[in-house]
Amino acid sequence: MEQPLLYYSTNLKAEAVPFNQALLTGQAPDRGLYLPQSIPQISQDNIFQYSGLPYHEIAFDVIYRFLNGVIAEDELRALVKDAYNYPVPLEKVYDRKYIMRLDQGPTASFKDFAARMMGRLMQYYLKKSGKKLLILTATSGDTGSAVASAFYGLDNIQVVVLFPRMEVTDRQRKQMTTMGKNVHVLALDAKFDDCQWLVKQAFSDPDLQQLDLSSANSINIGRLIPQIVYYFYAFSQLRLENHPERIIFSVPSGNFGDMMGGIFAMKMGLPVKKFIIATNENDEFPAYLSSGKYEKIEPSRNCISSAMNVGHPSNLARLVALYGGMMDEKGTIHQPADLELMRREIFSVSISDQQTRDVMRNAYKDYQLILEPHGAVGWAGLAAYLDRNPLDNKAEQLCVSLETAHPAKFPEEIIRLTGLEPPLPKSLEGLEGKPEFVTALQLDYQDFKKFLLDTF
Ligand SMILES: *Cc1c(COP(=O)(O)O)cnc(C)c1O
Repeated sequence: MEQPLLYYSTNLKAEAVPFNQALLTGQAPDRGLYLPQSIPQISQDNIFQYSGLPYHEIAFDVIYRFLNGVIAEDELRALVKDAYNYPVPLEKVYDRKYIMRLDQGPTASFKDFAARMMGRLMQYYLKKSGKKLLILTATSGDTGSAVASAFYGLDNIQVVVLFPRMEVTDRQRKQMTTMGKNVHVLALDAKFDDCQWLVKQAFSDPDLQQLDLSSANSINIGRLIPQIVYYFYAFSQLRLENHPERIIFSVPSGNFGDMMGGIFAMKMGLPVKKFIIATNENDEFPAYLSSGKYEKIEPSRNCISSAMNVGHPSNLARLVALYGGMMDEKGTIHQPADLELMRREIFSVSISDQQTRDVMRNAYKDYQLILEPHGAVGWAGLAAYLDRNPLDNKAEQLCVSLETAHPAKFPEEIIRLTGLEPPLPKSLEGLEGKPEFVTALQLDYQDFKKFLLDTF
């Protein structure tokens, strides 16, 4: 094996570490986020050879480049094959405009892609070292169930999930609370940002050091790397033979982990013409991209695309770093990013709830396309881009918009707008009858700390 790639902290005050250490600690000791010191490159020929390969083989080829030196090839191959045992449909809507459905995993959201790989990698390294971990994760709905499902029943990992009681759907809640075993679920009368705040407090609390805390939020580099793969997959499945072209992706975004996967893919060599970063009414990023001034939104705005109600995306520091700038964990910019370059590569737009509903209604009316609110924000972002960029608004331009959750996870809005009840995938069947295991907690750090110390 070669020398491993090292990961540095975006706050630049911590030591660079190999992947396994970055994975197990989650956040760097200086509260920065880990990023690879160099970005592995994939040649165009190599990318062209992906066409027709099964998803897990592309996943191996992409992920191995980041883990070389800290895992053996055959061991990673086995983990990847086991993690990606479900389809990744690319659905044509019109011309060469597609929806990529990332909702076929066991918890029916795109978070399965990251959580399943991260869970397997963590277990792999823990087994080798005989260590244990306590994973703390705040969720706006889908991370909790994806992480719980990925870690369920593992004997060396305990999971604590915190969620804002009023901000998740019944189905989302039941996906988490019906698991039990090593999955501990806390319901808070608070917002997602508050849940995330409690988790961050716990990480910096010396009294909790002995609990071996780690994070499964998208600040973990182990969640980010698996999300690079589906961008390569989409391009290799849809590109035309012997015809150089560049693809446009639209990504509905909240904490920007999904989008970072795409930016990595582009920086690795994927021929991307534009990334469209579509947000809901939490428009701090589109505002920053146009003005260069960054102001987080506190408290975040409640929109129907609830998993994207984020007023300060935790991955933004990584994006700023990739464009040559420096942003600390509080959102203060110490060194400006290359905004000119960012604007050439990224288009960003905020989509209101009203627009989201219109798009859901019209997509169904015009194309029998069923979108849930998050995917609808992405699709609306693509429409907004094509509208404002007539040169790219051509039948032959390849565009892919990401659908990040299964419509059956958000049935209320779909039924109201289209009259149609989205069919339940197998993964969501049978939740109604199961008992729920959940602890209610006040938004109080001392209560949370007491819960942790008493339980573990
Ligand atoms: C988490 C989530 C998002 C946002 O993804 P980020 O990586 O946080 O930008 C979008 N849609 C759904 C359904 C999600 O669960």
